[in-house]
Amino acid sequence: METMIERLIRYCKVNTRSDESSKSVPSTPAQVEFAKMLANELSVLGFGEVVHRLDNGFVTATIPSNSDQVVDSLGFIAHFDTADFNSENIQPQIIENYNGQDIVLNKELDVVMSVNKFPNLKNYVGHTLVTTDGTTLLGADDKAGIVEIIEAMLYIMAHPELKHGEIRVAFGPDEEIGRGANLFDAKDFRARYAYTLDGSVLGELEYESFNAASAKVTLHGVSVHPGTAKDKMVNTSKLALEFDSMLPQDEVPEKTEGYQGFFLLSEMKTTIELGHMSYIIRDHDKETFLLRKQLIWDNAKTMNDKYGTSRVVVDMKDSYYNMAEVISKDFKPVELAKQAMANLGITPIIKPIRGGTDGSKISFMGIPTPNLFTGAENFHGKFEFASKEVMEKAVSVIIEIVKLNAK
Ligand SMILES: [Zn+2]
Repeated sequence: METMIERLIRYCKVNTRSDESSKSVPSTPAQVEFAKMLANELSVLGFGEVVHRLDNGFVTATIPSNSDQVVDSLGFIAHFDTADFNSENIQPQIIENYNGQDIVLNKELDVVMSVNKFPNLKNYVGHTLVTTDGTTLLGADDKAGIVEIIEAMLYIMAHPELKHGEIRVAFGPDEEIGRGANLFDAKDFRARYAYTLDGSVLGELEYESFNAASAKVTLHGVSVHPGTAKDKMVNTSKLALEFDSMLPQDEVPEKTEGYQGFFLLSEMKTTIELGHMSYIIRDHDKETFLLRKQLIWDNAKTMNDKYGTSRVVVDMKDSYYNMAEVISKDFKPVELAKQAMANLGITPIIKPIRGGTDGSKISFMGIPTPNLFTGAENFHGKFEFASKEVMEKAVSVIIEIVKLNAK
């Protein structure tokens, strides 16, 4: 029987990088192949009702209830795509009984994960770590979540004396490009509550995310020969600077933390004639979020009034909302997770996510879905690693939640 770490490494080696520029679902064919493989494996492992849907890319399966009581059904969710970072030829390395020193990921290329730069490494002395070879990401985000859910379900299936309600699992695509969950079929999933396994360090329990929107700002200028441009030229580079200067300059990611929201000018491309700016807008508070969006509209109007024509055109779209809005109305999944961790001697780390998870969207589809730790760190880059011991704790937390839920 394959161990959890062997399974993690085998899954990590498959390049399932998602692609923001692709219009297909999932965004890359490799994700379809991975999902197909995963569905086959779940069937072989004894999961019930295994379905791989081609319309949304999700693989779902069921562990039927074995209780004669009425028990809320629970869902466990993870994503199989990986972030936008080199994912070619991923070669995970295992470090057993980690000694707390700098880790040479790649001798040839001199890639070192130093304790100085990553002081968290000190928390893993004595652990078995899975790292990269210093050239790719690892993809433990979120394949650690997938293997933990599988491992917990295998345990539950092997222990029929453990009474539980119906458990549903879902593995999905394209979380990293922010659209995998858009097509998630919450009704078909049936779970009363769910958890994403997509967090990081031991104890993480997250149920507050950002409210998020994106704004595309198009700038229309007038290009004239500079020699005869007086009172005629309108340069979109200047319009762009003017537009951005009207936003609060300290409310940017590099100057904010905790519950503070921001505007991020993520891309800007201008010629004299035509300019494009991309902003993302983030705030935990719904009201402030709406004010931020309004500010973008207001600034565009101010400039258009000033120039007497539509120089600035805004196209704004909401991306996801703070799941706390849903979860605060029904705290049961958070209470279950807290109690499960307490029973296992794990101190919950509860803090707002400065981002979103699939749970941000799924919660608004009617299934309150907080996020749990996976035991991996340094996501989205070559310093990503996972701890076997913390992954095992994540498995225990899943099992404990299932047990508590049936009580
Ligand atoms: Zn993730």
